[in-house]
Order: sequence, then C-alpha cells, then structure tokens
Amino acid sequence: MTASLPDTPGPADAEPRHLTTRLVHHSYEAPAGFAAPQPPVHKASTVIFPNVAAMRAREWKDKTSYTYGLHGTPTTYLLEERLATLEGAAQCLLVPSGLAAIANVALALLRTGDEVLIPDNAYGPSKALAEAELRHYGIRHVIYDPLDPADLAARITPATRLVWLEAPGSVSMEFPDLAEQVRICRAHGVICALDNTWGAGLAFAPFDLLGDGTLGVDVSVHALTKYPSGGGDVLMGSITTRDQGLHLRIKLAHMRLGLGVGANDVESVLRSLPSMAIRYRAHDVAARELARWMAGQPAVAQVLHPALEGSPGHAQWRALCGAAQGGEGAAAGLFSVVIDERHSQAAVDAFCDGLRYFKLGYSWGGPMSLVVPYDLPGMRDRPAGHLKPGTVVRFSIGLEDVEDLRADLEQALRGAFGGS
Ligand SMILES: *Cc1c(COP(=O)(O)O)cnc(C)c1O
Repeated sequence: MTASLPDTPGPADAEPRHLTTRLVHHSYEAPAGFAAPQPPVHKASTVIFPNVAAMRAREWKDKTSYTYGLHGTPTTYLLEERLATLEGAAQCLLVPSGLAAIANVALALLRTGDEVLIPDNAYGPSKALAEAELRHYGIRHVIYDPLDPADLAARITPATRLVWLEAPGSVSMEFPDLAEQVRICRAHGVICALDNTWGAGLAFAPFDLLGDGTLGVDVSVHALTKYPSGGGDVLMGSITTRDQGLHLRIKLAHMRLGLGVGANDVESVLRSLPSMAIRYRAHDVAARELARWMAGQPAVAQVLHPALEGSPGHAQWRALCGAAQGGEGAAAGLFSVVIDERHSQAAVDAFCDGLRYFKLGYSWGGPMSLVVPYDLPGMRDRPAGHLKPGTVVRFSIGLEDVEDLRADLEQALRGAFGGS
C-alpha cells in the first residue's frame, strides 16, 4: 500500500490521491518576478499536450511550438537563436558534434547519383565521411584545389549538388578566395556550405562576405566544441542558414536522424558564449606572437598562419578578415609549422613529446595549448606544392601566459633539434 489521502472524489485537477502521483503531478510554476537573465536548463523528452486536438495540430517542422524534447526545448531554441545572430543567419540547428553537422548537411542534401565537392585541405573526418560512408549511398565526392578557383569551377558538373568550403584549410591553414568560390557556386546554381569553425562568426560574416549584403554562403556549420564552448568539455555542432526552404530540408533530415543535444551541454555553451569574442582575441594575439617567433627558429622551414605575410592565402585572409580595412584583422589561435626535412620524424616526435605546456591532443579552442604532428602528404589527394618539404606540426594556442609558452617551445626545440 502506498500512502494515500482520504478517498474523496474531486475535480480532475484537484490534488492527486496517491503520494507517488502527487510527486509526479506537482503544480510547479516558475517563481513570479524572477527575471534573472541566466536561462534555465529545460530537460525533457516528453512534452505534454493539453488535448488530442492540440497534439494533432502541433507542427513538428518549425519552432512555433514544442512537440518532443529531441526536436527542441526553450533552452536549445535560445542557443540556436543566439548562434543564428552570431553568424548573421536566420535559422540554426544544434547537433551532437561538429562532424554531425557536416554529416547532417550531406545526408539532407545529397542523393544517389549526386556529387559533392570537397577542398583537398578539408577537415580530415569530413573527407573520411565522403570516402567511407557517402560512397555506399552512390554519392561521389570530388576533391578540388582550395587555392585555385578555376579548378573548383572546372570540377562542377550537372551532378554536383553541394560544395564544401573551409577557411582556412585544416592543419595546412591556406586561406581560400572564399568570395570567388561562392560566386562560382552561385553561377552554377550549386549549394555551398562552409565549415566556419575557425572563423567562429567572429573573423568574418559567412552570410555577408563583402559587407554589403550581396554575397554569402548557403549553409554554415560550426563545431561549437571549439570556441563557443571554450572549455574543452563539450561536443556540439550547429548548422545555420538564411533560406527557410534550405533550413527545412536540413531540419527534416535532422529530425529523421534523431540528432538531439543534451540540455546541460547547451547550458555550458550558453554560459561561454558571452566571453567568446575576448577569448578569441586573446588566442589570436598569442598565436600570432608565437607563430612569428617560430618563423625565426632554424628548425622551422615554414610557418602556416593566414595572418602572417607569406603564408598561403594571406592576401585573401587580409581581404576577408578585416586587416585590409585597417587594423589587425581577426584570426583564431591556430597555426602550423613545417619542421625542415633535414630533421627526422623521430626528432619531430621528440620535439612534441618534449613540450610541457602544449599537451598532445586533438581539438582546439579550450584553455590548454595543444600540439599534434601530422603526416600531411598522407592527408592529401594531390601534392601541395606551396608547402615546404618536412613534417607539419600544428599548435592550438590556449590561454596560458604567452611567455611561458614561448619558453616551452624554446626548450623543446633545443632538446629535439639542438641549435639547428
Ligand atoms: C573540430 C572540427 C570539426 C568537428 O567538430 P567535433 O565537434 O569535434 O566533431 C569540424 N570542422 C573543423 C574545422 C574542426 O576543427
């Protein structure tokens, strides 16, 4: 027997008789007058409908109402609104990771017989998705040269449905002529989707590349795992658009694939978002200082950072990211170096192992500096003639004191390569 109130019949909304039921059906209301700006964390799978007619009338495809936790809560809608604002978009969808955002866009827009174009310097798992998964659906992927718009134009065929753009490229950091790439996609009537993780909505406006409202990408995906989270403790992605029809196509695939996100993770990003611009700036300033310093080290054959003169695509970075208009421009806290080919792979590994504050690990955008050595030729479909021969090492600059980081690089360089 469970505890029960006296068995007195009453109206349907009276206190339930059984304690177990009362614990579920308690009459909770948000405190009146509690106008705290911090949003609450709404956690839900089920959303209750007042009656069957309301249940049937609810629209699943848009955000005029709530239907099921997987398809949105007040907490997820709020982050989506803020991210749409950040990127200058009209609609936004949250997904469980940056890679899930890329997969969601591909699965929404591509069908058997279609072709997708991917830049040769794309985020590695994005290429792997096309090579190892999309291929089985009869979707062909074609790699294009990110530094040659003519090559992109030449590879578009009547079967091309989607062009991926990335600025700058992963690891090798080449900055493409994004505006020209988008013009080419427009001219061919092909949807273009940008991986905007590096720019984060701060370095440039993906939906308004020229600042006059005339040119922008169709879709922007963003690994919120990086700067929006900023803590190295959340995996999440977003997909933003300006076109309602395009948004709906992606949203339907999102629903059918079941790509929900956890409310506590959403709250973490909502909490970090207000500090993102100053964090981004701090990462940027420190990364440029360290990249310039690395350029003077004898073991380093080349530094790859779009804001550094001589880096591939530097002029395109200047044009798009504010430097051409005066001022410093904006860049993220990432750069790579090519360790001269006279040094063995073992020496490069010893350099990475010898770092104290730079930890070996993937991802970026968090407070801790990270380092990863890459086998760049193994990641490319075609030779990258603009890169000097040697081994590529990528650094993600965290929020440590830049002098400590420089000293760390110095001791590890000396330990692995001596004075040469
Ligand atoms: C990290 C990253 C992703 C993937 O994000 P995850 O949340 O780790 O899946 C996608 N694109 C770029 C450019 C990234 O750096």
